[in-house]
Amino acid sequence: MRKNIVAGNWKMNMNQEQTVQLIEDLKKALPSNDASIMIAPTFVNLAKAVELTKGTSIEVVAQNMHFEASGAFTGEISADMLKNIGIKTVILGHSERRAYFGETDDLLAKKVTAAIENQMQVVFCFGEELEDRKSDQHFDVVGAQLKNALFELPASAWSQLILAYEPVWAIGTGETASAEQAQEMHAFIRKTIADQYDSTIADHVSVLYGGSVKPTNASEIFSKPDVDGGLIGGASLKAEDFSGIAVAFS
Ligand code: PEP
Repeated sequence: MRKNIVAGNWKMNMNQEQTVQLIEDLKKALPSNDASIMIAPTFVNLAKAVELTKGTSIEVVAQNMHFEASGAFTGEISADMLKNIGIKTVILGHSERRAYFGETDDLLAKKVTAAIENQMQVVFCFGEELEDRKSDQHFDVVGAQLKNALFELPASAWSQLILAYEPVWAIGTGETASAEQAQEMHAFIRKTIADQYDSTIADHVSVLYGGSVKPTNASEIFSKPDVDGGLIGGASLKAEDFSGIAVAFS
């Protein structure tokens, strides 16, 4: 069922000491409202973060995982390893994984399938590059990303999916899509899903916006009818800023 979600992607930031401090700060600062809160620390600090957030409303999620169950895949992490330490949700398809680690739609389709088959929830990221938008290809690009990675999934899998539309030109750049641009794309995403599956699935999936969301612009973006919250990078590293974004749902 569609939920309001504010998810923090910590990327390759925060050692264990800093992770402990930020979680303690978040416990004090986060508002209690109807937004579900997720944080995604680096792999080595996931278990510690799970321990520290026990009994709170903060869910600790992973930034990535491999699609194989186990084996000779040096440096990789499986769904079972994540579940074994209490992780139920994984972010897949982040633009940095696509750009710097060569993750393709086909690879992501395998990862999403593996996560779903392991009863995990997926925050699936996608979004167009600046050239795509300038050349008016952004709807085609986003439609293709959804189709290639997700549209082979059975309808039943969609209850385990959260979508995060992140225009690449707005990630870490300080340039945010306007609330109208976000709404326009989110409405397109729902229509594309409704056309492939049905309107119940399209209406029930949470679609987050990501790209330079800050306390100053969160309320306006989140107020749009098809925007169900945000995936936050830079601003998730400071308790005050992340809480300032979560407050948008109060
Ligand atoms: C992100 O990396 O998912 C992201 C949205 O980053 P930022 O908020 O820093 O733009």
